Amino acid sequence: MNQLGQRHQHFREVFKARDLLTVTVLVLSLFITYGLWDTAVRSADQAQQMTFDFRVRESTVRIEQRLAIYEQMLRATKGLFNSADDVTRGEFRSFIASLSLPEMFPGIQGIGLSVIVSPAAMSRHLATVRAEGFPEYAITPEGKREVYTSVVYLEPFFGRNLRAFGFDMYSDPTRRAAMDHARDGGTTGVSGKVKLVQETGGDVQHGFLMYVPLYRKDAPHATLEQRRANLIGWVYAPFRIDDFMVGISGELAEDLDIEIYDDERVSAEAKMFDSNKLIDATSVVHQLKRVRFIQAANRTWTIVITAVPEFERRMRWDRPQLILQSGTSISLLIALLLWLFLDDRARALHAADQAMQLALYDALTGLPNRKLLEERLGQSLTKAKRSSSHVALLFIDLDKFKPVNDNFGHGYGDLLLKEVAKRLQSCMRESDTASRLGGDEFVILLPDIEGREGTALVATKILDRVMQPYEIAGHRFEISASIGAAIYPEDGVEGKVLIKAADLAMYAAKNAGRATVRFVPRKETAPPTVHNGDWPQPT
Ligand code: GH3
Ligand code: MG
Repeated sequence: MNQLGQRHQHFREVFKARDLLTVTVLVLSLFITYGLWDTAVRSADQAQQMTFDFRVRESTVRIEQRLAIYEQMLRATKGLFNSADDVTRGEFRSFIASLSLPEMFPGIQGIGLSVIVSPAAMSRHLATVRAEGFPEYAITPEGKREVYTSVVYLEPFFGRNLRAFGFDMYSDPTRRAAMDHARDGGTTGVSGKVKLVQETGGDVQHGFLMYVPLYRKDAPHATLEQRRANLIGWVYAPFRIDDFMVGISGELAEDLDIEIYDDERVSAEAKMFDSNKLIDATSVVHQLKRVRFIQAANRTWTIVITAVPEFERRMRWDRPQLILQSGTSISLLIALLLWLFLDDRARALHAADQAMQLALYDALTGLPNRKLLEERLGQSLTKAKRSSSHVALLFIDLDKFKPVNDNFGHGYGDLLLKEVAKRLQSCMRESDTASRLGGDEFVILLPDIEGREGTALVATKILDRVMQPYEIAGHRFEISASIGAAIYPEDGVEGKVLIKAADLAMYAAKNAGRATVRFVPRKETAPPTVHNGDWPQPT
């Protein structure tokens, strides 16, 4: 590969390195951006999970607290009955009124007393209650049963609650299970999901009831038999579940969906409460979903809580998005700036090299010019001095070149000069230099040559090569050259002197009729000539 080719290769590599470095920096900074973004997303996720878990805990604890408070109120009311021989309707009313249920505890529908009425005591019971000012009083539903119960007191005694007056809760299996549990255990009993008798046509809600047993005062109730034998009735409270749940999830109720199932298992039949009917929490596959179990006396409630889109929207952090956007922009900017910087450098290098090219190489043929030739000649001579070897210079001037310009135009002349340059180069060894001084003058530098004989051989070969016919743009050209040869150290020891000597020898060749090689004449011996016997004579 010639020097020009090597230079092109070098600059291709410089530009390739620029692109590679830019892409590497871009990839690296995008990778860092990705890392930061990923971390931000993770911590945003974590914060969201923590907030959600907190809200879940808060909601379940509030439900448990609410159940505990209501149970406590029933126990207090039971205390009222245990403290007096007889609690009149008026006393009961003022006691419950002092609790300020509607204002303080909107979830509770009321507190009441349900008493057991045996068939034998039925007529006396009816007469007693009717005498209190309720002539219409009856136990519902009608029908023959082994034992009856009746809601005799229920405060506040107005509105929906009037519908429960006289209702036999024991006639309903769901309620009866809770009542039996309370009676047998001497403890609180909570019913499964029911429709309260208080429900009218509109705004029907599911409900549940809570019972505490009321035993005959001063009678023992340590054993199951005693508890069954000495039960008077139940202090109880009905709950409408939607009212019970009001305020459970605080001010931000809308961003959670809370569903309550009155069972350990989730099923459509067990569903008692659903704060967001649009979302079926059980079918949601979601990171922000929790299932919790609450013990409501004898019953286990399953609470399923999910975050609705509103929660995620409110909790969404802008930070990851911000990091991603600004990180990408900064990466691109850095890459662009780097590329511009490197590109500038590469171009400056390239421009400097081009300037160097102009200073040291001939623009038309790409051959080294006089300056570079002199430099290389100087180096060769230094080397030759050390190693006591020879250096030869061949001064070449084309014969009758001007007519080519005159007859075909300067363009053809240029093409011919380029072609000659190529041929000269093709005759060169790696260490040789073919240069163009200008016009139709070329100089060949042959370092390390075997004196006149070796030089004559190379010169003859070059002349032969130059004189081969040329095909240029459809025209055939034939041209010869006159070659003058000078040899170090015989013909001079300095570069300029040697070039001059070769130039003079070239003129001798011209004078000898052209198309020939002449050496610098030696005093002691006749100058050898290379005969042009079979070469075409110049015309
Ligand atoms: P001689 O045999 O005596 O050498 O005669 P010549 O016609 O070759 O003329 P000479 O060497 O004295 O001059 C060289 C001519 O080459 C002079 C000029 O018109 C022409 N020339 C010089 N530089 C260029 C060039 O770059 N391109 C072209 N096409 N011609 C050039
Ligand atoms: Mg010439």
